[in-house]
Amino acid sequence: MKIKQVLEALERFAPLPLQESWDNAGLQIGLTEAEVSGALLCLDVTEKVIDEAVTNGCNLVVSHHPLLFRGLKQVSDLSDVQRTVRKAIKNDVCVISMHTNMDNAMGGVNWKMAEKLGLQDTAFMSPKRVGDSDCGSGVVGQLPQAMAAADFVAMVKRIFGVACAHCNELLQRPVRRVALCGGAGDFMLDEAIALGADAFITGEMHYHQYFGHEQEIQLCVIGHYESEQYTAEVFRDIIEQECPGVKCLTAETNTNPVNYF
Ligand SMILES: [Zn+2]
Repeated sequence: MKIKQVLEALERFAPLPLQESWDNAGLQIGLTEAEVSGALLCLDVTEKVIDEAVTNGCNLVVSHHPLLFRGLKQVSDLSDVQRTVRKAIKNDVCVISMHTNMDNAMGGVNWKMAEKLGLQDTAFMSPKRVGDSDCGSGVVGQLPQAMAAADFVAMVKRIFGVACAHCNELLQRPVRRVALCGGAGDFMLDEAIALGADAFITGEMHYHQYFGHEQEIQLCVIGHYESEQYTAEVFRDIIEQECPGVKCLTAETNTNPVNYF
């Protein structure tokens, strides 16, 4: 099977027109007529990720965050992105990134988060229609049972492997309706409140946004990387279903640039 066929399968699931106007999702590097020897699935593309792909005989890296984002005016060894581009090309590794198109796709990043939390009756927070695709930002749904806020936060930390969540004061009423938006999803906070959510989970939130929502909504901010970590499972499901026989490996390289000491 050719890399082109894997690219097409990913774009069928998350069409490129679903991406935000500022984004650069899609093919980043490589020749898609090559036979795919294996796909390494990750959130971010770094030199170590390219090394891991080469070591494991994968000539395709599928990432969530685009390697090429703001454009390059030179390709030397002066930045981590330039070194990663050089390493990918030297090793004939193709790089595909499925970013905000995968955030906005039915079954994408936020739906996987909702699945991990066991949410039911899930829907897009702000549904849209682009071309033939139902899409949108964020997902809202119901927990199978209402939970005390402290128990809810503990469950979220456990499911996403987070040592420390950033929260506002604990909600005194039970949490049942949950809104979420992976990554830098704080722009969906007002929508979460408008939808009557008891809790809002995202990856990043500005300091000032924590103010003024005491006993209105439980904020639970778990880190950008942590919130999107299960996106590789979305890639795996698509490739295994649409491109049977293609070897899929989830990267073991931890690319989270944020450390907790
Ligand atoms: Zn992200």
